[in-house]
Amino acid sequence: MSQPQMRRAIESGVPDNKQFLHPLLAKNYGNWKWHDRPRPGVLHHVANSGDEVWTVRAGTQRQMDVHTIRKLCDIADRYAEGHVRFTIRSNIEFMVSSQAKVGPLVEALESSGFPVGGTGNSVSMIAHTQGWLHCDIPGTDASGAVKALMDELIVEFRREEMPNRVHLSTSCCEINCGGQADIAIIVQHTKPPKINHDLVANVCERPAVVARCPVAAIRPALVNGKPSLEVDEKKCICCGACYPPCPPMQINDPEHSKLAIWVGGKNSNARAKPTFMKMVASGLPNNPPRWPEVTVVVKKILAVYKEDARPWERLSDWVERIGWPRFFEKTDLPFTKYLIDDWRGARANLNASTHIRF
Ligand code: SF4
Ligand code: SF4
Repeated sequence: MSQPQMRRAIESGVPDNKQFLHPLLAKNYGNWKWHDRPRPGVLHHVANSGDEVWTVRAGTQRQMDVHTIRKLCDIADRYAEGHVRFTIRSNIEFMVSSQAKVGPLVEALESSGFPVGGTGNSVSMIAHTQGWLHCDIPGTDASGAVKALMDELIVEFRREEMPNRVHLSTSCCEINCGGQADIAIIVQHTKPPKINHDLVANVCERPAVVARCPVAAIRPALVNGKPSLEVDEKKCICCGACYPPCPPMQINDPEHSKLAIWVGGKNSNARAKPTFMKMVASGLPNNPPRWPEVTVVVKKILAVYKEDARPWERLSDWVERIGWPRFFEKTDLPFTKYLIDDWRGARANLNASTHIRF
C-alpha cells in the first residue's frame, strides 16, 4: 500500500536572515570574543577567529520614501561593503571590516543628514507606531511627534551621557501596538465615542463590538427604527477598543483626544526584572505639527533623570530608588486625580500600583 503523500509545511513568517548578513557576521555567527564602543554611534566586535567588525549606527525617520532608501543603499555600497541592517528602534547599521573605513562612513552619513549615535547610554531613536500613514484608527501621527521630539533630543542621541540607555516610544492609540519604554507618549481619549447611528447596521458586526468592550458598556439598541448600539457613558473608560471594529463609533476628537506620558517601562531582564510603565502626565494637548507641550515634559523628565540617577540606573530603577512622590517633586509634574486608576475593577490593580498602597 502506498504511503500517503505528506503535505509540506507552508513556510510563512520572517525569512532566515543569515542570507543577508555581512559575510564577516555570517562567518563568525555566535562566535564573538569581546566588543567595545570606540565612540558614540560605533560598535567594535572581535571574533574568536581574530576577525574584527566595526558597526556604524545612524538615526532614520523610520517611514522612508524610496529616494531616502536609495541614498542609504548608495552609502552602503560606496562606504560600507554593501550591507545594512535595521535595529528595533529604526536605527540603520552599516558594517565594515576595517577601522580606516569608519571615518569616511560617518562623514558620508552625517553630510547626508543621518545623525550617527544611538549606542550605549544615549537616548536612542524613538520607537513609534504606524500613525496616519498605515493604520486606520490613530488619534495622532506618532511619526510626526517622533520627528518633533528627536529634533530636540538629537544631542542626547549623538552622545552617551545618560545614566543608562533611554528608550522612548510613541503610540497613536491607547490599546494596540505601543510597547513599554522608559518614556512613552500615548494617545489618551477623554470622551466616549460618538455614534453615527445611520451607519452602524451597515458597517458593524454588532455582537463583536459589544464583546469588544472591556467594561461591558455597549448594548444593542434600536435608534430611529434602525438596529444600532448605545454606550453607557458612566461605565465607558474611553479606551477606544470599539472604534476599530466599528468606525461609526468615532472616538478620535481634535479637542478631547489628548496625549499622556508614561514612564518606567522596561522589556529586558538586564540588572532588574521587566517593569510596566506608569502614567505621570495626562491631558496634554495633541498639538501637531510640533507637539511643544509634550516636548517640554519629556525634556524635563530626561534632564532630572540625567542629573539625579546613579550610573547604570535605568529610569525605572531610579524611580524605584527615590520613590514616586520624589519623582513628582523633582520633575515638578503635578500629581492629579487623573493619574489614579479609578476604573471600578481596579481594586486588584491599585494594590499593584506604585501610586497607592492600602
Ligand atoms: S498604536 Fe494604535 S492607532 Fe497607532 S498604529 Fe498601532 S494600532 Fe494603529
Ligand atoms: S471606548 Fe472602550 S470602554 Fe468605551 S464603549 Fe468603547 S470599548 Fe467600551
